[in-house]
Amino acid sequence: RTTHFGFQNVPVEEKASRVANVFHSVAQRYDLMNDLMSMGIHRLWKKLTIEKAAVRPGQTILDIAGGTGDLTAKFAKKVGPTGRVVLADINASMLNVGRDKLMNMGIGHEVEYVQANAESLPFPDNTFDRITIAFGLRNVTDKDKALRSMARVLKPGGRLLVLEFSKPTNPLFEKIYDQYSFQILPRIGRLITQDADSYRYLAESIRMHPDQETLKGMMEQAGLDRVEYTNMTNGIVALHTGIKF
Ligand code: SAM
Repeated sequence: RTTHFGFQNVPVEEKASRVANVFHSVAQRYDLMNDLMSMGIHRLWKKLTIEKAAVRPGQTILDIAGGTGDLTAKFAKKVGPTGRVVLADINASMLNVGRDKLMNMGIGHEVEYVQANAESLPFPDNTFDRITIAFGLRNVTDKDKALRSMARVLKPGGRLLVLEFSKPTNPLFEKIYDQYSFQILPRIGRLITQDADSYRYLAESIRMHPDQETLKGMMEQAGLDRVEYTNMTNGIVALHTGIKF
């Protein structure tokens, strides 16, 4: 089995199928791994995203690459019975785990589940008040195409929020973080999911993802305005937001 999942060195179709294998493989243990690997901090990153989304009752929300539905669950409560939340993901295994989890939480019925690729969203233009993509964009093969697709389905005045790993702002911290990602993280992955390769992919995909300013430029290119970002945990993660005019 190959261990190199890098972005630039594999053909496009191959990258997509590797990403699919990674998430089929980790779906059942995904939530547990998130808590372990981030030491629970992903909950804070997501909480800040929910606050910035400033969702109101009755709104229509898309959580793309929504996976096991952490953000979707929060949005479902905020939009209330007159609103609509779509949990979309390219991966059927992740969607299934997400749907079961939300059903168990008693909020499954307000949510629509759609298997979709972020690069070609199957929704009409100007549909959503808010779109979130959390820890999803770096897995997408053509990120510019995905950002354009998200801009298309946003309503004018609607807001896109991209929560993603980014570039640590402090070089010493970056070194420690690199050690953690490449040495410790695949070991935790192997212990919990018997799958170190998937977590090696994760570390590589994080390192190769565009930094804060590059992603800001990409969002502007895709047609979003007032693009800004907030670093969290020393830039390990950044939340980018933009508005469609
Ligand atoms: N948003 C969730 C969260 O924050 O916990 C899940 C994030 S998980 C790291 C990344 C998700 O992106 C996976 O569920 C994967 O299937 C999905 N994904 C990867 N490529 C995608 C694409 N091209 N379109 C839509 N979803 C994609």
